[in-house]
Amino acid sequence: MQSRSEHIPKCGNFLLSWSVVSQLHKNMPNQSQEQQTTEEGVQASPAVATIFSEAEHPIREHQLDREALKVLYRLRDAGFKGYLVGGGVRDLFLGKQPKDFDISTDARPGQLRRLFRNSRTIGRRFRLVQVFFRGNKIIEVSTLRSRSEYDEGGEGELLASNNTFGTLEEDAFRRDLTINSLFYEIEGRTVIDYVGGVEDLNRGIIRMVGDPDQRFTHDPVRMLRVVRHAARTGFSIDPATSAALRRHSGELMLCPPSRLRDEILKDLRSGASQAWAEQCLATPLWRTLFPFYRHGGKDDQEQGRLALLRILAEMDRVCQSDIEERPVRIDDYFLFAALLLPWASSRFHLPGERLRGPQFHERLTALRDEIDRHFAVPFNVPRMAKERISTLLINLSTLHHAGNGKDHPRWLKRKSYYQDCKRLYALYQLGQGSSVQGVSAEDFSSPVQMQKQKAVEVISAVQGASSSRGRGGGNPAFSSKKSGVFGLRSRRHS
Ligand code: ATP
Ligand code: MG
Repeated sequence: MQSRSEHIPKCGNFLLSWSVVSQLHKNMPNQSQEQQTTEEGVQASPAVATIFSEAEHPIREHQLDREALKVLYRLRDAGFKGYLVGGGVRDLFLGKQPKDFDISTDARPGQLRRLFRNSRTIGRRFRLVQVFFRGNKIIEVSTLRSRSEYDEGGEGELLASNNTFGTLEEDAFRRDLTINSLFYEIEGRTVIDYVGGVEDLNRGIIRMVGDPDQRFTHDPVRMLRVVRHAARTGFSIDPATSAALRRHSGELMLCPPSRLRDEILKDLRSGASQAWAEQCLATPLWRTLFPFYRHGGKDDQEQGRLALLRILAEMDRVCQSDIEERPVRIDDYFLFAALLLPWASSRFHLPGERLRGPQFHERLTALRDEIDRHFAVPFNVPRMAKERISTLLINLSTLHHAGNGKDHPRWLKRKSYYQDCKRLYALYQLGQGSSVQGVSAEDFSSPVQMQKQKAVEVISAVQGASSSRGRGGGNPAFSSKKSGVFGLRSRRHS
């Protein structure tokens, strides 16, 4: 692919000020060892951008989202520059449909608010403008920045506003991966590349921008972003990035638990969770995130690994499907229950042992305690989700020993979580290598199915209220009955 390498002055209108220089793409920053680096681990001297004309890249304007284009043209008409950035450029380059279209501009947040009346500003330190369109569509527009919020000194550090906004070049270098640091602009329909991202896209390489050691130290979540994008694209991780990731993986748990939780959920929902787990398992990241998975002997661990990969493959199949053009949405607690299944199965002998009466409750308490310690606390999992995860996992045993669906206990059939229990049990069986029917995407998202399930829950709750008697006939926590607080059994019914 031929391209022009050009220096883009920091403040000029780049379309007028392009001046072809002789440096070619092979001299791009990621190859130059000698270049001076700043505190953030990125180069200090002016960078040379490579400009790829429309003939040299695969992105066509009609592939851009209509609303994103509207924003870009409105910015241009108002005299600002606007660029499609980040994952949108990467995915279009790879022929994929981007999840979202982010836009960067030289307009300041106040100017954006005046330009887009149907918008609001979010973010405390780095203000981002969300532009609203019909059908709950949101396009996020951010002012070009000099530094990533994660490369800052700390929460308390106050920056003068002129310290946060930056040039196109600075904005490229504050980003995470080279393949995420490209800009597409509508005027010349070019792709602007300061970091060798196009070459990495063409060669299939995941590489951190700048010095990976420093970038990971400033924001360890970037290590998760490396394995995420390696998993999604099938690209290989650049050796320097990979070596730094091994050195810094232990720092991951320094990140705020909620941020880690959200990042993991993103991967579990990505449709590439099996590849994600394989990538994590191949690095020290898995051990750092889920040390409890080291439970048991070598054979146990190998079996658990196989089961986990089979389970995640099935979840990926569901996540990749859509129902009536709506993406399938799986609840957080179910995704976590699937992730924890092989561990819980081995650690608590589920569903092998038949659990009844006090034994059931003792095992549930032990399971809940360990989930709390190993998972809910480190990842700030909400209490309700934690309860659901424990309930689903413990009832693997109930379903396993009940035989086929007709023999499932009536008390369980009445529970709002009964369908989830069945789905999780199907995942367990798939994990064991059984050729059972998998989990249906419709189960998770079809509105008809959801209405049907709700109707069944209401009916069984009404029946349960009139027919349940004696031990086990009541409605333990999370009953579908409308009594009690948030569906919890009220004292009167216990
Ligand atoms: P996805 O398809 O999951 O949305 P994405 O690359 O667009 O992938 P986002 O989380 O939407 O991911 O982030 C948008 C862009 O912001 C990224 O492409 C990257 O350039 C930049 N970015 C995100 N997180 C970081 C980070 N921790 N450090 C530096 N840059 C980041
Ligand atoms: Mg994105």
